[in-house]
Amino acid sequence: MDTTVVLVILGVAAGLVVGGVLWWRRRSREDESFYHFRCPKCKRRLRYLSRQVGHKGRCSNCSGDVVFPPISQSID
Ligand SMILES: [Zn+2]
Repeated sequence: MDTTVVLVILGVAAGLVVGGVLWWRRRSREDESFYHFRCPKCKRRLRYLSRQVGHKGRCSNCSGDVVFPPISQSID
């Protein structure tokens, strides 16, 4: 096996490792859990993220203003 082939294989392997790590890091960031609550106006089940707790939002169904409730008040 000549050196060029070895270097190419090592380069590809390193690329796969780096790409895999970056992919995993991106995945884990996007992997925040979703919570649900009911729109007080139309009772539609809405989805939100833990970082949205306490923030204002808009119901995707009735466009009413909503405030994302604490996780303890979320529904399944
Ligand atoms: Zn609504």
